[in-house]
Amino acid sequence: MLLDVKGLTIEAGGGRPILRDVALSVARGEVVGLVGESGSGKSTIARAVLRLLPQNAAARGEVLVEGADVLTMDAAALRSLRASQVAMIYQDPRSSLNPVRRIGDFLTERMVHTLGRTRKEARVRALELLAAVGMREPELRMRQYPHELSGGMLQRVVIAAALAAEPALLLADEATSALDVTTQADTLALLRAIQAERELGMLFITHDLHLAAAYCDRIYVLYAGTVVESRPAEALFADPRHPYTAGLLACTPELGDPRPIRPIPGRPPSLDDAFDGCPFAPRCAMAGTACEERRPVPVAVAGGVAACHLIEEGAPAC
Ligand code: SF4
Ligand code: MG
Repeated sequence: MLLDVKGLTIEAGGGRPILRDVALSVARGEVVGLVGESGSGKSTIARAVLRLLPQNAAARGEVLVEGADVLTMDAAALRSLRASQVAMIYQDPRSSLNPVRRIGDFLTERMVHTLGRTRKEARVRALELLAAVGMREPELRMRQYPHELSGGMLQRVVIAAALAAEPALLLADEATSALDVTTQADTLALLRAIQAERELGMLFITHDLHLAAAYCDRIYVLYAGTVVESRPAEALFADPRHPYTAGLLACTPELGDPRPIRPIPGRPPSLDDAFDGCPFAPRCAMAGTACEERRPVPVAVAGGVAACHLIEEGAPAC
């Protein structure tokens, strides 16, 4: 398995859990969605894969990348993981680029410093990468500054940079959320084409379940730091089993869908809220007494797992 996260629990300072017993995997060539509202712990999982956690965070469990545990590896292995095995693409391309450096310098400097290429090799490779992400006039782009390019073009530059070291795993954290709808569609199509051609594994992080369903092979739905449902995208979309997944689908209609939006009442718990029972109980229309008392454990459902007492009891949750 390319990425295999097992029993990952992360506590912030003071023992407040951010993630609780998360299990998640990504195979080579697979696009896996990680979906949840903001604050659900999606970005924390991505950061854990690169061991970019706050100093005061305590992590338990395993984060295996090609079999090696990121949480315990030594500094040299961690450098090599970050330089060449795993690449992250963030939401705002401008945050990855220095406004006073040319695009060409941005692309070549990393290759010189972290991959040990010569300037000349790095330049040839940068031009290849710009062409690979569909940039016209790559020579001109190399000479330009970030403010001379649109958001969509900048995200292509960032994707090109991510591919420089030929990583096996891409972490895309809301990578298209800042783009307008047309550019978002183009960028997604590009990412998917690159992913398929190079057989990359990709963890695609988004708050948009419809987007994930259209784009991913499998999906994990995260709520309050726990995986509440994980299924193949088609099954999850056609027949969500966890009440939270069903709620997410109902409250984010597709473009042009005439049905009214039905937001899930209430809001996600804060880190300071303590739970004995199901963290979704305060917002769940189907909550019963067991839900307040016992935390549900993941049980097998068609194609994956879901954590809900109703499913444990054999009743279809939704
Ligand atoms: Fe709702 Fe209970 Fe299932 Fe939690 S365990 S999602 S509260 S029915
Ligand atoms: Mg986030």
